[in-house]
Amino acid sequence: MDNYRTYLSEAEIPTHYYNLRADMKKKPAPLLNPGTLKPMTAEELEEVFCAELVKQELDDETRYFEIPEEIIEYYKTFRPSPLVRAYNLEKALGTPAKIYFKFEGNNTSGSHKLNSAAAQVYYAKKQGLKGLTSETGAGQWGSALAMACAHFGLDLKVFMVRSSFEQKPFRREIMRTFGAEVTASPSDTTEAGRKILANFDDDSGSLGCAISEAVEAAVTRDGYRYVLGSVLNQVLLHQSVIGLEAHKAFEKLGVKPDIIIGCTGGGSNLGGLIAPFMGEKLRGEKDYRFIGAEPASCPSFTRGKYLYDFCDTGQICPLAKMYTLGNGFMPSPIHAGGLRFHGMSTILSELYNQGMLEAVAYEQTEIFDAAEIFAKAEGILPAPESSHAIKAAIDEALKCKESDEEKVILFGLSGTGYFDLVAYQQFNDGIMSDYIPTDDDLKKALSYVPPQPQE
Ligand SMILES: *Cc1c(COP(=O)(O)O)cnc(C)c1O
Repeated sequence: MDNYRTYLSEAEIPTHYYNLRADMKKKPAPLLNPGTLKPMTAEELEEVFCAELVKQELDDETRYFEIPEEIIEYYKTFRPSPLVRAYNLEKALGTPAKIYFKFEGNNTSGSHKLNSAAAQVYYAKKQGLKGLTSETGAGQWGSALAMACAHFGLDLKVFMVRSSFEQKPFRREIMRTFGAEVTASPSDTTEAGRKILANFDDDSGSLGCAISEAVEAAVTRDGYRYVLGSVLNQVLLHQSVIGLEAHKAFEKLGVKPDIIIGCTGGGSNLGGLIAPFMGEKLRGEKDYRFIGAEPASCPSFTRGKYLYDFCDTGQICPLAKMYTLGNGFMPSPIHAGGLRFHGMSTILSELYNQGMLEAVAYEQTEIFDAAEIFAKAEGILPAPESSHAIKAAIDEALKCKESDEEKVILFGLSGTGYFDLVAYQQFNDGIMSDYIPTDDDLKKALSYVPPQPQE
């Protein structure tokens, strides 16, 4: 038996982020200015984002970006993350498949989001900014950002999707403990929030609407910029540390994964995990299957359309070409709050459109069944978001059992579920329900998509 956990040393933390776009022949579509329908310029983006991050956002050509020493030093407090062979899960499933997972939940915020928060806060501090604003869904991004802001010394204002603000008071208190100011969204503190409150009868909120509020809060304050925890190219760039570490660990083991799986909200943990492997596939060096697992209640890949759409409900952000359910889509308040976004990373959207990436959608009761199997076998309580990846990995492992194939499956365990116990309680009490939007719901939400620019 190989080791259960494969750890790298601190000295093996990646020194460079890997930019997958450099290896894409057909690049992801650029962000467009919604007024002029021209690609967003660096000057326009710098009104909202800090300068170094804008540079990273717009750069489709540079393959590697050096990671500053200060970020690596901070990474050492929670990285490298272990690559774990799920021997006990394999046994429980009776599969000949070899299952590995890369575990990103080993920090107080409980997810991979700290990888990008660390970078974004560092660059903002270096630019001499006073503070940052952002939104958070389930609270993982806000918690990660609060930790990084406390570490690097920046002020932070977080707009938290109201359903999570109410369901997940524990994450809210983590953010406040690390010094962040937390407001439930939609709120009456911004123009965007007041507009949404007036136009929708449901005030449980969505990531799209919290984004509008956070952007407004940044541009109306001196010395503040907005940061986003997913979707953007820069976020996938930072999250490449997950994939780079996994790639190195597999090299040490002398093992090559056949199937690589991650859950997809905006696409950052999957995009980061697959980056170096997808690079090999794009360059024709090696082949892999890549699978994104999303909630059936917010099925951007499997039922969305590949269109230019706003990233936010308030329609103040740039247009991104992505698989979208429409910026007016109000996903039902499922427990995988981190997956309740109407759109998807433009990088992953382009790869999906090219057929380089597959997608599956699951209902929430079946992902909690998978979470329970995994927790019993591996002793880690997974985040509801991550459990989508677990479910896809279990499904693939069971297919291997049927066909008696010894495939190697890698999935991203993006975070832990220790703050999702209300969800687990509902599951254990048998009162959890599934929400699947009807075709009519989707048609209605897509009507918010703006007229498409000529290409
Ligand atoms: C936020 C989050 C996700 C979804 O975001 P991506 O950008 O798609 O990775 C998945 N898992 C966890 C634990 C999260 O916190």
